[in-house]
Amino acid sequence: MLPPHSLLPSRMLIRSLLVAGVTSHPLLLTPGLSILNFLSKPRGPLFNMERNRILHTILKNLLYNHFCAGENAREVKATIQNIKNMGFRGVILTYAKETSGKSSSEKDLSNDESKGVDSETMAWHQGVLQTVRMIGDGDFLALKLTGAGEAVTTALSSGKPLPEQMESALLDVCDEAISRHVNVFLDAEQHHVQPGIDEVALNLMRRYNRGGVAVVFNTYQGYLKSTPRILLDHLHKAREEQFVIGIKLVRGAYMSTEPRHLIQDTKEGTDISYDSIAEGLIQGKYADWTQDEAFNSPKLELFLATHNLPSTLKAQQLQKSRMHAQLPLIRIQYGQLLGMADEVSLTLLQMNREDTSGKRFAATEVYKCLTWGTLNDCIFYLLRRANENKDAVTRTLAEYRALKREVLRRMTNIFSS
Ligand SMILES: Cc1cc2nc3c(=O)[nH]c(=O)nc-3n(C[C@H](O)[C@H](O)[C@H](O)COP(=O)(O)OP(=O)(O)OC[C@H]3O[C@@H](n4cnc5c(N)ncnc54)[C@H](O)[C@@H]3O)c2cc1C
Repeated sequence: MLPPHSLLPSRMLIRSLLVAGVTSHPLLLTPGLSILNFLSKPRGPLFNMERNRILHTILKNLLYNHFCAGENAREVKATIQNIKNMGFRGVILTYAKETSGKSSSEKDLSNDESKGVDSETMAWHQGVLQTVRMIGDGDFLALKLTGAGEAVTTALSSGKPLPEQMESALLDVCDEAISRHVNVFLDAEQHHVQPGIDEVALNLMRRYNRGGVAVVFNTYQGYLKSTPRILLDHLHKAREEQFVIGIKLVRGAYMSTEPRHLIQDTKEGTDISYDSIAEGLIQGKYADWTQDEAFNSPKLELFLATHNLPSTLKAQQLQKSRMHAQLPLIRIQYGQLLGMADEVSLTLLQMNREDTSGKRFAATEVYKCLTWGTLNDCIFYLLRRANENKDAVTRTLAEYRALKREVLRRMTNIFSS
């Protein structure tokens, strides 16, 4: 059987090898991060990525194209097509420019309070509409609500209703998504805004997840001690009010800024929490529900957003064994970020190629999560990805070795034919 990385087109393989070569070696990564940090601050023409075309070309070809989807609709659509050609079910698209980027004084000038128009929310609304119009059937639009600016963030963290402008922007975006057969993720953020985001998500799910399928998904962070309880509460609400609950399960991305006591004490604790939530949902006996009650459990769809191979394989194997035992199945989809954890994505894709059962939910639906925006818009996103690779050094090294083996395999094939 061919290795998972055999699915990578040659150009992507070489670029991935270069990036993994740098990110898996601390001696190369540390100066690389310093350079990226330096370029992320406003600079004169020589070190300005948008004005210095040579710098722009180097960064774009080596780094940006590995992690990001494109600077405009044409580039984004080409990247999406390449990804779908590899066998991915679709993409999750998000816009890098999360706020309007204006200073407070600029905001004051452009906010027309007498008309209740907030310029940050307006810019977010336009950016998100532009994003959803680049995707289609079966893809996901990812929304970061605090990106809509200060007024929205304040409402989310104080438990107040969203400003009317944001309420109507959200409905407009969801209607546009539905008309394009696109699903919507509400991303999970820091704990002080999360109860507000949960409320918004529940309201959208009540409204849009009615036709037996989930259109809107809320995100649940496995690293938070409170998540099993909150998720159980939402499952009860979905059952009582008869809407489909869309669950995107992540481990959680805000460890460095969240109060430590809210988070599982160890990485192993987070892993156990993540896997047991996934297992309970797949088996229809989540927390206080017994197997006998499975019949009454709410209709749910599960999206496992993770780079962790053991978690992914556990869920996939559980689904498979339930399928063979003719037990009820739920829809499970999987997603990883573009440029990261290709071993996970490609292993899942390869399993798909082997599965010929054709049964409902038998196919493994795998997605890549893409961020789009200009090089300048994406620079902080690129920095976060580079830092994440530094934290996951064992995984990055394993990825580098797998890529090197695949390059050697292809070269041997060429020379022996
Ligand atoms: C498609 C996609 C969408 C995402 N959307 C969101 C989102 O909306 N909101 C969000 O918050 N994150 C999101 N993430 C990021 C995610 O939460 C994780 O930070 C990231 O995927 C790394 O976790 P992992 O499951 O891939 O596995 P691993 O790399 O195995 O796990 C790393 C994670 O484990 C946890 N961890 C690490 N050390 C410890 C410790 N000492 N104690 C306790 N826990 C620890 C942290 O959550 C850390 O991120 C998304 C990820 C993907 C792939």
